Amino acid sequence: MGISKKCAGISDPREIRLLAEKLIEEILRIREDGGNRRISLFELLPIVPRDAAIIRGIKMEEAEELDSHRIVEGAADTNTSRIRIARTMLRRRQRFTEAHELGHLLLGHPPGIHLRVADESGTRPPAEMGADKFATEFLMPEPIVTMVYGHYFEEALNHRALTENQAYFLCASLPQKFSRADFARMSLREFSKIVSVVTSFGGAPFRPLVDLFDVSAESMARRLEELRYLS
Ligand SMILES: [Zn+2]
Repeated sequence: MGISKKCAGISDPREIRLLAEKLIEEILRIREDGGNRRISLFELLPIVPRDAAIIRGIKMEEAEELDSHRIVEGAADTNTSRIRIARTMLRRRQRFTEAHELGHLLLGHPPGIHLRVADESGTRPPAEMGADKFATEFLMPEPIVTMVYGHYFEEALNHRALTENQAYFLCASLPQKFSRADFARMSLREFSKIVSVVTSFGGAPFRPLVDLFDVSAESMARRLEELRYLS
């Protein structure tokens, strides 16, 4: 809380990614029940932060309200290895908060209570960005996103240079129809959110990415941009 000193703990993005991958593998092994069943990474979706908490001996509890003065969405106490999450109607945001708070404890962030406050603006401290990075890698692991995205869309999409077919396929499952020019005019984030929610592309219907990973369109959009599938 109110940490301004240099961020301790793991901050290297590659290390954060490895940590998330290792945890996912552990969840997979437990689901496979000592080799009695074969489960693919794909079948793990959506990945559940609570599973990871149990594996690491972290207590994760839901509370009606964490702070009466401001909207605190989550709190991770490094001293007691305890995470408290505010119950909300926004399930997908809550899942991200759960993974974010796990990140604080698993990345060895400075002792104290890490609070996640709604609508925080401005530059965020390194520990907050590290926890977000962990949540992203944990809920939307690159190998699975790559596999699913490739299966659905086959190639990277540039919203300013779509073919007629691509524009048409993207709209097939949408109530609103966009032309190539419409796609070119919208912001990248707007475009990425559309890609995250469409339920077909050039053929058979599929489960939209936001449902498969059980994340918000905003989170999915960011991830697809970060992995350079969308530009
Ligand atoms: Zn945080």
